[in-house]
Amino acid sequence: ISDAEQVVLDEIEKKDIDFLRLQFTDILGTVKNVSVPARQAEKAFTEGIYFDGSSIEGFVRIQESDMRLVPDPETFAMLPWRNREDGCSARMICDVYDTSSGEPFDGDPRYVLKRALERAHDMGYTVNAAPEPEFFLFEEDEDGRATTETNDAGGYFDLAPKDLASDVRRDIVYGLEEMGFEVEASHHEVAEGQHEINFTYDDALSTADNVATFRTVVRAIAAEHGYHATFMPKPIARIAGSGMHTHLSLFTEDGGNAFHDDSDEYDLSGTARSFLAGVLEHAPAITAVANPTVNSYKRLVPGYEAPVYVAWSDRNRSSLIRKPAARVPAASRIELRSPDPSCNPYLALAAMIQAGLDGIENDLECPDPIRENIYEFDEQTREAYGIDTLPSNLGDAIDALEDDDVVYDALGDHVAPKFVEAKRQEFEEYLVDVSQWELDRYLETF
Ligand code: GLU
Ligand code: MG
Ligand code: MG
Repeated sequence: ISDAEQVVLDEIEKKDIDFLRLQFTDILGTVKNVSVPARQAEKAFTEGIYFDGSSIEGFVRIQESDMRLVPDPETFAMLPWRNREDGCSARMICDVYDTSSGEPFDGDPRYVLKRALERAHDMGYTVNAAPEPEFFLFEEDEDGRATTETNDAGGYFDLAPKDLASDVRRDIVYGLEEMGFEVEASHHEVAEGQHEINFTYDDALSTADNVATFRTVVRAIAAEHGYHATFMPKPIARIAGSGMHTHLSLFTEDGGNAFHDDSDEYDLSGTARSFLAGVLEHAPAITAVANPTVNSYKRLVPGYEAPVYVAWSDRNRSSLIRKPAARVPAASRIELRSPDPSCNPYLALAAMIQAGLDGIENDLECPDPIRENIYEFDEQTREAYGIDTLPSNLGDAIDALEDDDVVYDALGDHVAPKFVEAKRQEFEEYLVDVSQWELDRYLETF
């Protein structure tokens, strides 16, 4: 038992915790958990908890189904919506191990991200990341099913009483803070019923854990208020969708920001520029991972502050990557604006980081920033600037992923083919479906 594990065992005792949820994430980004009585915590640390991996999406086949979960004591947190007089629950995020080899399981998304961070570490860097997840709050119908009826008519940064959801949002923020989040800001987003909550940056692994937790907390607390919170990227056509902008920077062992350089016009170091160039180069394949649903591509259209064009800028919000102004050197970072909150945060971060590191390793040349609104460029202008377009649908994105060794390898031999297979199937199901739009448009016309 390590010191960190002992701290958890003491907490369990002190807080009188009855149940422990052992949490992990499947390839498609769905959070799974098994609940064990808290007295099994010690055994979970020393031996792990065995479970049947064959029923988890993309994990293993029936004949090799035994998997082992080992909780990471650093991720111990109380579940605020589960605390009551007669007992409370806590959770820990787990690493998944292969029982036959005893090695970390290649299909565990958390391990995929750990591999990317190990590469960064070998190159002398730690990776910091901060996400900006957006979501909608919708009314439920009489049967408790989600509708797309927004619960307010507020807009960007509106205040109550127009922003009816501020009570819900406040409780979400309290819940997150109880779980150890440092919430920086929360506000009403552009669309009605749309919100954003930002939490402080952290190392990339903690950030991925935080995103997984965040989605669970937001949904649970919204449900307590009778609302359905959704991270679907574009629940309503023709208004803003929900993104999850992701800020990234590399720090050196001595704690300095490897992305910062005072002498550069944009405060970006050579390392930052090569990293940025790597992300731009691999942007189409990253899209498959960071925008993994059919619906993701309804968000990536011009006009709603979501990116469409592969370019970077220090000011406009129509580009894929933005270099936000930094008040202090530690804050120099790049903001990738394509990810949406339907992604698997572990895989998406692994893809972005590996692409960036590849840019550094190959000393890729960073193009000039585009300072105009690219939405307003015509095709010739875009061509003149050499600006590519992101894939416009999931099928094209998956093709790009299969053609991109760097991002495909970032996912690894187990996850990449499983991911591609699942997503192809999803896209094909969508293609054969007949939508309401088609019925409205054609049923009576022809
Ligand atoms: N909702 C926008 C998106 O789809 C982002 C708005 C913002 O800049 O925060 O990415
Ligand atoms: Mg926002
Ligand atoms: Mg942003």
